[in-house]
Amino acid sequence: MEALVELGAEIIQCRECPRLVAWREQVATEKRAAFRDQEYWGRPITGFGDPTARIVVLGLAPAAHGANRTGRMFTGDRSGDWLFRAMHRAGLANQAESVSADDGLELTDAWVTSAVKCAPPENKPTPAERDACAGFLRRELAALSSMRVVICLGTFGFDAALRHFGVRPKPKFGHGVEVPVDGGPLLLGCYHVSQQNTFTGRLTEPMLDAVFTRARALATTDGGGGHGGIEGSRQ
Ligand code: SF4
Repeated sequence: MEALVELGAEIIQCRECPRLVAWREQVATEKRAAFRDQEYWGRPITGFGDPTARIVVLGLAPAAHGANRTGRMFTGDRSGDWLFRAMHRAGLANQAESVSADDGLELTDAWVTSAVKCAPPENKPTPAERDACAGFLRRELAALSSMRVVICLGTFGFDAALRHFGVRPKPKFGHGVEVPVDGGPLLLGCYHVSQQNTFTGRLTEPMLDAVFTRARALATTDGGGGHGGIEGSRQ
């Protein structure tokens, strides 16, 4: 717990990536018209949730007008609406809404974070920015000592987890794909909860629920290692 608090305090001070620092601050100054009266956070975003979590949700990076505005991962945007509704249905969140950092949301047995801690232009961090932030992710995952399952959102989250855990050869990403890590957690692929997927029907609520149901089952067994998983698709 202490390590995560200390890490969080360090992360929010970080100015390592000039392009991302400029972007997060520019967005926070210019704002979206609908949020013009709000004070944007405009800084890096730490992971949050239950420090004893067995289930970790790993996303790409904060959204410019979501977490970069509210100061909490997946909070204040459509992706978060989908994610926390599903986590609430799965019994991992005390409420389905995630609108502001002080909205009362609490996670149980779950931790939500991202591979890159600052909002990138077009949601695309460069490889150098990704690598610059990898040390924070490494320390965060190391501090989550109860972690059993990592739900990897999209190819970016999946690749970040593979890189972090040194998985080779690299398995192909897919929704429902399970990758056991020797001496580590099981990685569970999940289409990202972005509007690009949810608006088009590529990711449906039942598909998302199936991932959380599977994650809960894996977290309470001895790892599972890819046995009897949900129906996976590779796209
Ligand atoms: S992306 Fe990570 S390393 Fe880069 S400025 Fe943000 S917190 Fe620092």
